[in-house]
Amino acid sequence: MPNLKFLLIPLIFSFTASAQHSISYIANEGIFIQSENKSILIDAIFDNYYETYASPSEQTIQYLNAKEHPYQIVDLLLVTHAHLDHFNPEMVSKFLKSHRETELVCPKQAVDSIVKTQENMELLIPRLNGVEPKAEWNALFLKGVSVHTAYVRHGGKQNYDVDNQIYLINVDGKKILHLGDAEMDPAHFAQLHLSKPPIDVALIPYWFLAYPPGIDIVKNQIKPNKLVAIHYPKVGDPKTLEKIRDNFPNAVVFMKEGEMVNF
Ligand SMILES: [Zn+2]
Repeated sequence: MPNLKFLLIPLIFSFTASAQHSISYIANEGIFIQSENKSILIDAIFDNYYETYASPSEQTIQYLNAKEHPYQIVDLLLVTHAHLDHFNPEMVSKFLKSHRETELVCPKQAVDSIVKTQENMELLIPRLNGVEPKAEWNALFLKGVSVHTAYVRHGGKQNYDVDNQIYLINVDGKKILHLGDAEMDPAHFAQLHLSKPPIDVALIPYWFLAYPPGIDIVKNQIKPNKLVAIHYPKVGDPKTLEKIRDNFPNAVVFMKEGEMVNF
């Protein structure tokens, strides 16, 4: 019988040596997640309809649609909600026609707006995974990625009719949370038990990191290992930024396309 001790060592190493993951910034709340085996976009395909917030550069959109490096294969495109600074139905439709491998997960509302964009939708429809607004976790398993999604109301009364889904995904062993434009109310998050088990990276609208209800949600309910602030405006918001630096000195605030965190 072979010596078990020596057989076990490589086995343990293969489980503990985790591959490198990265998240790179596209614009507003748009990000690109890469691991050894997976590539995922969230809220990354839209134009400059809202001038207050950054939009993907023309070159990025061109690279995305032409399947240029690093976008040769995109396993998933997740969309938090159908606001034009997160999602453009015509552009998403064009992207999905080029990327026949990509599964889309988004609120049912966003699927409806894609279907309205044109008539020949047969190729696309099987890959449009529309989610109904339910304030509890809904688990999907697509392209080898576990995707948990839950409805959390969009902030601001004028936006309550736009369904906002948050995403908690497990990408090659790392847990990544994206809140979209969730309302900054701790009551929405209580039943979601976000921090069990711990979250590796949380992508959160930057105002959560500066004001008490949001700080409470991040510190007591989300408790991520790494914190990345998104939705920072083009003109800047230095007062809020100062508060973020005081409350979360280790937080990364995404501001420029191409910024990256590794974990
Ligand atoms: Zn929004």
